[in-house]
Amino acid sequence: MRQLQAQRIRINGIVQGVGFRPFVYRLAHELDVRGEVSNTASGVTILAEATAAALSAFRRRLESDLPPLARITEISVGRESRRGFTHFRIVESDAGNGRDTLISPDVSVCDACLREMTDPADRRFGYPFINCTNCGPRYTIIEDVPYDRPYTSMRRFAMCPRCQQEYDDPLDRRFHAQPNACPDCGPQVSLRDAGGAPVGSVDPVADAARRLRAGEIVAVKGLGGFHLCTDAENEEAVRRLRKRKHREEKPLALMSADLAGIRRYAHCDADEERLLLSPRRPIVLLAMKNPNPIAASVSPRNRFFGVMLPYTPLHHLLLGHPFTALVMTSGNLSEEPICIDNDEAVRRLGPIADCFLVHDRDIVLRSDDSIVRRSAGHTRFIRRSRGYVPVPVFLKRDTPAVLACGAELKNTVCLTKGDRAFVSQHIGDLENLETLQFLEQTVRHLERILDIRPEAVAHDLHPDYLSTRYALERNDLPRFAVQHHHAHIVSCMAENRIDGPVIGLALDGTGYGPDGTVWGGEVLVADAAGFTRAGHLAPVAMPGSAAAIREPWRMAGSYLHDAFGGGFAAVDLPFWEGLDRDKLPVLRKMIERGLNSPLTSSLGRLFDGVAALVGLRSRVRFEGQAAMELEMIADPAETGAYPHQWEKIEGVYQVPTAPIVRAVVADLQNGVSAAVISSRFHRGLVRLFSDLCRQIAVDTGLDRVALSGGVFQNDTLLSALVRKLESEGLAVYTHRHLPANDGGISLGQAVVAAARLHAG
Ligand code: ZN
Ligand code: ZN
Ligand code: FE
Repeated sequence: MRQLQAQRIRINGIVQGVGFRPFVYRLAHELDVRGEVSNTASGVTILAEATAAALSAFRRRLESDLPPLARITEISVGRESRRGFTHFRIVESDAGNGRDTLISPDVSVCDACLREMTDPADRRFGYPFINCTNCGPRYTIIEDVPYDRPYTSMRRFAMCPRCQQEYDDPLDRRFHAQPNACPDCGPQVSLRDAGGAPVGSVDPVADAARRLRAGEIVAVKGLGGFHLCTDAENEEAVRRLRKRKHREEKPLALMSADLAGIRRYAHCDADEERLLLSPRRPIVLLAMKNPNPIAASVSPRNRFFGVMLPYTPLHHLLLGHPFTALVMTSGNLSEEPICIDNDEAVRRLGPIADCFLVHDRDIVLRSDDSIVRRSAGHTRFIRRSRGYVPVPVFLKRDTPAVLACGAELKNTVCLTKGDRAFVSQHIGDLENLETLQFLEQTVRHLERILDIRPEAVAHDLHPDYLSTRYALERNDLPRFAVQHHHAHIVSCMAENRIDGPVIGLALDGTGYGPDGTVWGGEVLVADAAGFTRAGHLAPVAMPGSAAAIREPWRMAGSYLHDAFGGGFAAVDLPFWEGLDRDKLPVLRKMIERGLNSPLTSSLGRLFDGVAALVGLRSRVRFEGQAAMELEMIADPAETGAYPHQWEKIEGVYQVPTAPIVRAVVADLQNGVSAAVISSRFHRGLVRLFSDLCRQIAVDTGLDRVALSGGVFQNDTLLSALVRKLESEGLAVYTHRHLPANDGGISLGQAVVAAARLHAG
């Protein structure tokens, strides 16, 4: 008889609620391994007895054949004495377990479930809530841990005998699939009118599709919230949606049935295809094809569409009707959080939607669609939410438990535990009470399901952000105020698992500086505990403060004033034509007397100012719009670049913007096109910041540069700057797991607070 060996295999990671134990069970049966598998507080433990050859195959395949949702972060193998197991079994978990295991994000419906859903002979034919251990809702239906049906919003649906049988059978694909359901026992869809009254319908999905074809706006309840949908080819319907939703110009996301459908209106390379098809199903930014059949007002003045593939069975059923694409934008009024509750949806979306396609499975926690794009050779997050949360960022070392409350715009929060940092789903712009309540709810929820009791709270240095005020209310804990751009840079360092000091290039719109000015074009020398400001754009006035952000013509005036002095309005520029020139003396007075005109070193504002000067727009409808449009028009064939200079004042490099602005003006007066000016502006910035980094590298002896801040969503700038810095021998670190924009700030805040807590 062959010699049997015994081993104890401990596995940590995302291994609960993802079909991991049945996978182990099936593998053990196949390889004639005996023993048992059980959940532990931090993962699963396997006792395995088999021949040496079988054991090594078993270990290998545990990692190589992993179920799609599982993720192993740590695997350790120890020898055991033999117990003489006669078979392999799954040991039931105790209710107390599971608080340290990772919860899976929501995952798009798998191919096996889709095959069943489209098979007329299957008992779940056409059933919009089909799922299995490899797919379906997770994070958005969990109320508490352990991840078991009684702690999810599936609690109220008692399984029918056939579903229960699947749930109990270790060899079934639905073994312990908590949301398991069928038409006899599970959630149902229904159609309601704009007032919320039920509309009798034999096939609500088909009726909703008919209404969409007729140009109606349908609010569809999804996985992490409601979408507002309409036929993307119907210009009139899309305009009506924009008008009712008060969303004037921000691009609207699209959903198409398959890749072939997407290719009718957008380009899509192999990397983008892989992203679209990934079970996380993000919205992917794809270059438009021109001409295309999509309504012009879906993505006005933009070269990209935000596109996703269906991710719930309900989406598949809806897109089974012939649409090139549906607009699928989050179900909210602009600025408010996405709706999740049926009654709430009728109340808030009733004025927007013509009818509602709803269901009776509650969404416990809202989660917007994630948005990604390919840029500079990697996938970059614009918004990290559904499908990715709550997968942690793994830190280089253990940290104390910290709650970080994020910034103001694109807010997320972050909780740390051990070497894991859990960055929340997208919460939104903290400009109203609804969003603040969503933040509070998210913190409570994450603290509960992750079992984290924070030892410290981190927040932005800005005293008036709602996130700061929330942090200040948690006055039972030590609190740390973290400067905005320091948090940006440390976030980038943390996700790249590097310690400082590094040269941190933080380029974005707005961040409160310790000197009371608005920062945003900063070169820092930073580590987790602190930073020094090594260089920055020379400050100019923001006449009108927040109004200067909404109205880039004000910034254009301010940069002109800075470059040409008080007589700036006499500079001959086509820019003046569209403006009310009577406002200029007031603007001048504001700038010169400092009336409601805080100083800013923001690069985002410089983008706005240049965009206004070249005639792109004097007002914006959403943050970053002018900068985005300036990038869109850049002429890739242009090789020129605007000049720069700097002066060292008290050890800090100050970069005046006047030479750049004068060069832009000279080009405008010589009739140079906006496309060429945009390109020269971008290329000038690449030279400026690479030269400045190189200078600071020489001064400090540092050779690593971390890039962060919303400006790095600009692909033209990011790609060229990374190339240039690397060509000069600097190691460049960029964001790949979190957004470069303020959605990534909370991680940096948490790591800074942890470092300061550690330093005492
Ligand atoms: Zn499935
Ligand atoms: Zn059933
Ligand atoms: Fe920022």
